[in-house]
This record gives sequence, structure tokens and C-alpha cells, in this order.
Amino acid sequence: MGAHHPECPDRLGAISDRLIASGLDVYLQFHDAPLAEMDQLLRVHARSYVDHVHESSPAHGIVHLDPDTAMSPGTLQAALRSAGAGCYATDLVMRGQVQNAFCAVRPPGHHAERAKAMGFCFFNNVAVAARHALEVWGLSRVAIVDFDVHHGNGTEDIFAGDPRVLMTGIFQHPFYPYCGTENPAANMCNVPLPAGTRGEEFRQVVYDIWLPRLREFRPEMIFVSAGFDAHYEDDMASLGLVESDYAWVTEQIKQVAGEFSKGRIVSLLEGGYVLSALARSVTTHIKVLADL
Ligand SMILES: [Zn+2]
Repeated sequence: MGAHHPECPDRLGAISDRLIASGLDVYLQFHDAPLAEMDQLLRVHARSYVDHVHESSPAHGIVHLDPDTAMSPGTLQAALRSAGAGCYATDLVMRGQVQNAFCAVRPPGHHAERAKAMGFCFFNNVAVAARHALEVWGLSRVAIVDFDVHHGNGTEDIFAGDPRVLMTGIFQHPFYPYCGTENPAANMCNVPLPAGTRGEEFRQVVYDIWLPRLREFRPEMIFVSAGFDAHYEDDMASLGLVESDYAWVTEQIKQVAGEFSKGRIVSLLEGGYVLSALARSVTTHIKVLADL
């Protein structure tokens, strides 16, 4: 995205290093993400928008689609693989080849709307994967859990009013992208949190608000917009979660998935910008997902 941009390639390197250093890597299966196919993207995005992203891809240098969101010559391929990863992971989980999957992808996706790139996002990876589960695998109810510090406005834009999808989210408010609080659709469980919120209050919200909604909905599969920028050390925002909070919320998601979804979870990386905190948090999340 250009020099000094927080959404940088080192994020995935840091995660990979930490997985190796922790010794978890030997217990995991690794898969390369395929490029998303056009029909997978078109279940979520307008054709004119998908064409616009393709046509904007530069041969040299950097092109901005919005003030925060830039493309280099490699961005289109990365964005296509990010979206492809979620569909591929969904296939692995639905075929029973794995119980759950984490997609270490960038660019992230949850700010990308049906026809708009924003907030470092081009294609809404979690939405593409959720629609894949609904349309290709014939599921009738999927949940999307978003614990990134920013509101997943793109996911809301795509799924608001769709009774097959329940989205539960928390986000710092008021804060970028400055929405999610005014008259959300009935299938949007948006919980704004004030700056300074710590793990104890976050857990209470999950316990009191998210979990009853998820159990009432009885999802057949759970997708996670796994952003780690609500971490105490992440200076992108001002919430105070730590690794044990990510372990706890992952455990709760697993519990619901065990009750209603045959354990099926696909989690996709969203934000998280301080490399050390990001890598530790992702490793914790994966450790719980993998029962290690
Ligand atoms: Zn974020």
C-alpha cells in the first residue's frame, strides 16, 4: 500500500515467524490460497466494481482507490487470493477435511462494500466465503462474528436484511468508519464500545449479547472476521484486549459451533497492526481453534 502504511506485508511474516517459534506449525496443515473466481466475487460485489478494481491495477507505482486504500502491481493478485482463501477454506471444512481453518490473508476485507473499496479493503473476503457456503454448499444459516476494533461496515452493507446471515460485532465508537449504530437491520448485532474498554467488559458483552443471539440463530457454520487491532498494544485504536481475551472469545465461538454447526469455523484475518501483538494474538487464536 506504499511505504510506512500499517497494512504491510510484514504482518504475515510476523504471524508465520511466531507460529514457527511457538512450535504450533508442526501440528497445522498449510494450504496455498487460490485466486478467487469471478462468480465467487459476483455473489457479493457489483460487476462494475470488480471490473473497476481490475482496471485500476497499476503496472508500476501506486494507485489510490481511497485515501487509505492503495494498489501496487501485486495488490490485485493478493486481493484475489484473500477472497479465494475463504472459499477454499470453506470447501475444506464442508468436505470434512479439516474441522476449522484460519486464513492468514491480506489485504483485509470487512470494510469493502458491495461497490466500494475502503479502509485497506478491496473484496469482502468474509462475505465472499459466507455466500460461497450459502450458495455452493446449500447452507441456510451462517453467522459472521467480527471482533476487529473497527466496524465491519462492508459486511453490514452486503448482508443487512439477509435472514440467512447473522452478524455479531463489537467496535470502538465513535471511531472509523463512523457507522453501525443507527438503525441497524434486525440481522445485525452491532455493539459499539467506548475507547478504553478492556477485556472484562468485552467478555460481558459477548456473554450477554452475542452468545444468546448466536444460539437463537443456530448457525450451520461460523465465519470470523478476526481483526486483532483491539489489542491493548495496537496504537491504531484504543481498546484494551489481550491474548487471553482472544483465547476466551475463540473458545466461546468454538462452543457455539460445536452445539449448532458441527464445529465448522472459517476465520479470516482482518486488522492488527503492531506486529508483535498481532503475531501473539493470532497464534493464541489458532492454538484454541486447533485444540492445542
Ligand atoms: Zn480494524
